[in-house]
Amino acid sequence: MAQEDVFKALVSHCKEYGFIFPSSEIYGGLAAVYDYGQNGVELKNNIKKYWWDAMTMLHQNIVGVDAAIFMDPTTWKASGHVDAFNDPLIDNRDSKKRYRADVLIEDQLAKYDEKINKEVEKAAKKFGEAFDKEKFLETNPRVQENVQKRDALHARFAKALNDNNLDELKQIILDEEIVCPVSGTRNWTDVKQFNLMFKTQIGASADNTMDVYLRPETCQGIFTNFLNVQKTGRMKIPFGIAQIGKAFRNEIVARQFIFRMREFEQMEMQFFCKPGTEMEWFKHWKAFRMNWHKALGLGDAKYRYHDHDKLAHYANAATDIEFEMPFGFKEVEGIHSRTNWDLSRHAQFSGKKIEYFDSEENKSYVPYVIETSIGVDRMFLSIMAGCYKEEQLENGETRVVLALPAALAPVKCAVLPLLKKDGLPEKAAEIMNDLKFDFRCVSEDKDTIGKRYRRQDAIGTPFCITVDHQTLEDNTVTIRYRDTMAQERIAVDKIRDIVMKEISYKELLKKIQ
Ligand code: ATP
Repeated sequence: MAQEDVFKALVSHCKEYGFIFPSSEIYGGLAAVYDYGQNGVELKNNIKKYWWDAMTMLHQNIVGVDAAIFMDPTTWKASGHVDAFNDPLIDNRDSKKRYRADVLIEDQLAKYDEKINKEVEKAAKKFGEAFDKEKFLETNPRVQENVQKRDALHARFAKALNDNNLDELKQIILDEEIVCPVSGTRNWTDVKQFNLMFKTQIGASADNTMDVYLRPETCQGIFTNFLNVQKTGRMKIPFGIAQIGKAFRNEIVARQFIFRMREFEQMEMQFFCKPGTEMEWFKHWKAFRMNWHKALGLGDAKYRYHDHDKLAHYANAATDIEFEMPFGFKEVEGIHSRTNWDLSRHAQFSGKKIEYFDSEENKSYVPYVIETSIGVDRMFLSIMAGCYKEEQLENGETRVVLALPAALAPVKCAVLPLLKKDGLPEKAAEIMNDLKFDFRCVSEDKDTIGKRYRRQDAIGTPFCITVDHQTLEDNTVTIRYRDTMAQERIAVDKIRDIVMKEISYKELLKKIQ
């Protein structure tokens, strides 16, 4: 199946099986806003638990907070968002569609990469084992031409971004002959800056209202609580503060399902360290966060780092962890070395001294910060994309299976009476009532057992337990494993151990090295 079709199938699967619905769908839906359904909310909660436990339980020096979405508006002046949280937008006059100028150019860069990769694939097929990729890349004229074009564009693009040169961004779009995917024309407007923050008011009467923003990132609630947590928690540097919460951005282009939403959730950790040690910690967190992703077992080749060309003015190093989505490698998480910029700015704007007294060094300083910032929704999408499989079975049928890591699966175990009579539903209920205190189980008796297995495969349930007449005689059941579809007969009192072992967060957390 073409990648585009895989993505379409995934989106409809998410809806059909109660993972994700368009927001307020009965009114036609709201662009780039989504609701999580009965299975989606479970998977999302499990992702958050995996992150929260990995950060706060595995690290004695990381604690959590849950800050409010509304903050004093000065926060956003201090953080630079009021003045500079902008994206460059451009409109196509014919289609009336709006785009991010930087994304149009990034897509163009990806096209050069695609061309290069196609040449490599073609040559690899032609030459077989004798193929020398390095040599081919260096010598093939068509590849060389595209490499040069890509590198030149890349350098020009990075410079335009760094110089904040909007005219140059437009000129690049014109020179590269980038067309609007809808109208197919090059009838572009000038590039303008657009602030992504949502504004609203607090206060009941017109004369005492205050403009406030919906936070565009969660980390500022961590910075403004730095002293509170450090003092009340008696935290010693280095230490981290973790938070999970909603963030809001008025994104210019709402595309790609839950990849780019206007209301989304972030899991962020700010790690406060001694100035001069930040590169060491940057390296540490870069590796730890990659391992956290890889421990899920979706395939190491699906992840890569992407170091930033354009550093935010406050950062001295930044990288993204990208995942291979059906629409290419895309950022799921950012790791940034933010220097002491945020704390210094909050000190400046609040007039409060925000420093740490280091008793070993016998001096005070403004700590440096390494941030790890991951979107829950993008993580959700990467997991769905990595686990969604359409399998061709030996009997000619296809089955759709979500091969979710068992710890994250919305339902861990389905207890299915073979028939809706002869006391089998009652026996299934008895088993379920015993297991439900340990993990999420469901029971259903409608349709053939084969159809019920398929439904559980489609939501990623790792275990199905079938209760039949023999169960009534010898207290054994059939357990069916989702991924292999293998079945075996086991005693009822063995179910708990088998399931618990497989769904254990402990085993998952231990895999993060
Ligand atoms: P992008 O370049 O894709 O807009 P970003 O670099 O602005 O993302 P950050 O500000 O670093 O993103 O935010 C950290 C994380 O929050 C991202 O890696 C992503 O997982 C998530 N995120 C950011 N914006 C959105 C959004 N609009 N919808 C869903 N998740 C988002």
